Amino acid sequence: MSDPKQKHWHHLTGEQVLRLLATNGQTGLDRVAVEERQHQHGPNSLARRVGDGPLLRFLLQFNQALVYILLIAVIIKLSLGAFVDAAVIFGVVLLNSIIGFVQEGKALNALEALSRTLKMETTVLRAGEKQRIDAAGLVPGDIVLLASGDKVPADLFLLRSRSLQIDESALTGESVPVDKFPGILELETPLADRTNLAYSSTLVTYGTGVGVVVATGDSTEIGRISELIASAEVIATPLTRKIAHFSRLLLYAILGLAGLTFAVGLWHGQYWVDLFMAAVALSVAMIPEGLPAVLTITLAIGVARMAKRNAIIRRLPAVETLGSTTVVCSDKTGTITRNEMTVQRLWVDGQSFELSGIGYAPEGELRLDGERHSAAEHGVVRELLRAGLLCNDAVLKRDGDAWRIEGDPTEGALLVAASKAGLDARTENARAARLETIPFESQHQYMVTLHGGDNPVVYLKGSVEKILERCTVMLGVDGSVGALDADEVLRQVNAMAGHGLRVLAFARMAVARGTTDIDHQDVCDGLTFLGLQGMIDPPREEAIHAVRACQEAGIKVKMITGDHAATAAAIAGQIGLLHTSGHAGVLTGRALEEIPDADLIDVAAHTAVFARVTPEQKLRLVEALQARGEVVAMTGDGVNDAPALRRADIGVAMGITGTDVSKEAADMVLTDDNFATIEAAVEEGRGVFDNLIKFITWILPTNAGQGLVIIAAVMAAQPLPVLPVQALWINMTTAVLLGLTLAFEPRERDIMSRPPRLSAAPILNGELIKRILLVGLLLLVGSFGLFEWALYSGRSEQEARTIAVNVFAVGQSFYLLNCRSLRYSMFRLGLFSNPWIWAGIGAMMAVQLLFTYIPLMNKLFHTAPIGWIDWGLIVAVGLAIYLVIEGEKAWRRRGASSTVTH
Ligand code: ADP
Ligand code: MG
Repeated sequence: MSDPKQKHWHHLTGEQVLRLLATNGQTGLDRVAVEERQHQHGPNSLARRVGDGPLLRFLLQFNQALVYILLIAVIIKLSLGAFVDAAVIFGVVLLNSIIGFVQEGKALNALEALSRTLKMETTVLRAGEKQRIDAAGLVPGDIVLLASGDKVPADLFLLRSRSLQIDESALTGESVPVDKFPGILELETPLADRTNLAYSSTLVTYGTGVGVVVATGDSTEIGRISELIASAEVIATPLTRKIAHFSRLLLYAILGLAGLTFAVGLWHGQYWVDLFMAAVALSVAMIPEGLPAVLTITLAIGVARMAKRNAIIRRLPAVETLGSTTVVCSDKTGTITRNEMTVQRLWVDGQSFELSGIGYAPEGELRLDGERHSAAEHGVVRELLRAGLLCNDAVLKRDGDAWRIEGDPTEGALLVAASKAGLDARTENARAARLETIPFESQHQYMVTLHGGDNPVVYLKGSVEKILERCTVMLGVDGSVGALDADEVLRQVNAMAGHGLRVLAFARMAVARGTTDIDHQDVCDGLTFLGLQGMIDPPREEAIHAVRACQEAGIKVKMITGDHAATAAAIAGQIGLLHTSGHAGVLTGRALEEIPDADLIDVAAHTAVFARVTPEQKLRLVEALQARGEVVAMTGDGVNDAPALRRADIGVAMGITGTDVSKEAADMVLTDDNFATIEAAVEEGRGVFDNLIKFITWILPTNAGQGLVIIAAVMAAQPLPVLPVQALWINMTTAVLLGLTLAFEPRERDIMSRPPRLSAAPILNGELIKRILLVGLLLLVGSFGLFEWALYSGRSEQEARTIAVNVFAVGQSFYLLNCRSLRYSMFRLGLFSNPWIWAGIGAMMAVQLLFTYIPLMNKLFHTAPIGWIDWGLIVAVGLAIYLVIEGEKAWRRRGASSTVTH
């Protein structure tokens, strides 16, 4: 085989392509060839490419206003000959950048690893058999089957297609889907016009196709350009953006304050260099440098926690938005229910049959009025089951003793039902070979297959409404075709659906010999009704709890399904979503259509169950809910759900049953398709946000305290209690050793009994401002007081400063304990529920001992050893802060409980 990269595939015939790739269009490659080629070509995945290189990322750490200020300070110190000070400041800046760099790198790696956990599957034809495989295992020459909703797994040359449309925006930027079909093209045809090729990473939006893999991995077109679109994962969320904005304002305010302090000092007649250093110390003290890094890390921890609970975050802002979700709109089938379907009831021409057995094992029997019945004697039942068997894309497989299905569980259930009655899939398919298919799509609610053989026939299966409107006659128990009593059928459907059964209707139509093509228009009327099959799909146990948990958390849950209103109502009743029985409280898609947008805003808010809803209506519902200011999480699995998923604040796709298109559009993917996972993710989202707020509540007041001390000293024309190098030291050590540990705080127990957070609420609210003033003043009084006391009692400036700096280290440690919860005391949380807190405080104390007692540190940071009494006073200040703030929290709790009414 020559190098396939050199080939102009679009300019060849199908036969030439197959021959060049040494493969067979009907059966695909055999196992040996696959293994050989996997060895030769490697996995079908794009080589990992990092965003910014490490050097650039490191240098960017220096691109901060604070660093510039410090570099100026270094220059001034150098020009004054204070080389030690200059070196220390520079060293701390360097260390700060290294820590920032390492932390950011860790967070980025964690996020990147997660983005790779989502495996992509594809359908191939190998050794004559259709299989689902991990797309990474594809090799050139593989025959791939594409269906609407798939992401194209490699570059393909099309052998066959049926109304195939592909969205190539990943490659060309053009988002209008293009028609794709086999054929030979001119050699010069540009890439975007090569309609006979399907490119890796593009999305099938309509139709089906079969193609042969011509290139995999980095040899694909997307692989060649992906260097250009290297994942520039932007780590920004609404909150981080708010904080960035806030930090900028803060920076100006602090610089203004520093300037003012400088001016007042000059007016007092102080030496300008001292004043400049005071201004630098002030800036260092007040600018919360640790903030961005801690935000990123907290979000990354949240992403990892969610992944552990089966929710994969695709876009970082979702972590935070999840915490403020107010409405969850969920599918029924597979998300709230188990998606383990079993056909239990058949209905044909006035006769109702029961089918025993549960699960996918084809063991069970057919009963009529409690009597065992053989399908063989009953032509119509046999025909009904045959329709279910033939108009079907699922495969029933046996793994040892266990049976499982590949494909749609609804269809799997039909295979099992037919098998229980003795119909054999191979025999039936051989007798009536399938010639053509119109696959099931939610918007049409039916599937059609065309079969050849002696009596060519079309089978249709789908929702009762769609099938009935196409039928005028019905196949009777005696084998004759008679009038169809639609009302009788609908009564049956309501009875079945009322028990929560999912009901499918079946029909057939004879066609002329030689027909090879079939379209929607061909099946719009004149069909013969065959009967109904009703399957159970029990709700998931966890969904019941999760629905209750959401409701307690003030989150409204809505069920939006394509299924029948009565089935939807029955399931909604079982999971506690609907308290009335029957259709009351259920809105159907048809009724929805009649409601103008303006009225829908109100209707959407007050309805819990929506049935027979089309994907377009899902989009309308999201918009109506958002118009009321709701933060909406919406699930979806089909191609047509993509717009609603994109529009929702949190688009949620299904990892198992979802199409690639829906996953691509989603913010979050559930690896277990489970509703309870959405609830878990919301819980984690709230936890993440809580921890972000705790960190902010910790860092802003402590920084304010550090700044106030310096301002007070300059204003009072006193020596600085904290020198710039010391401010730098205390700022950096406390942010890393203390503040960061709040990111590991576990979720508070009552997190799901609070109402959702208002997403528009400002960060700097009244409570935080009060807290900043309170803690700032306490730290000011403590450190300035002890500093002055030490000087007054004749101690050296070094000793007095060492005491002042330690007041911050100890005071901030105590205040950290306050910040573990905004509401409760740490005793209520569990003293050791976050061991990192204690490890951090221990490490903080250890470095402070070095700072205080090691001669080298004394020299570098102008400190001096201090005595027991000093430590006693320092701890007393810390303890006082702890007690005052706990008192404030308790007071606030009382206030809150007396104003909040439930
Ligand atoms: P949901 O997933 O919310 O139950 P769907 O859009 O998948 O809704 O299905 C809507 C209706 O279409 C179902 O109630 C059923 O009658 C019919 N249906 C579902 N799956 C298939 C299928 N594979 N083939 C034909 N009809 C189907
Ligand atoms: Mg479905």
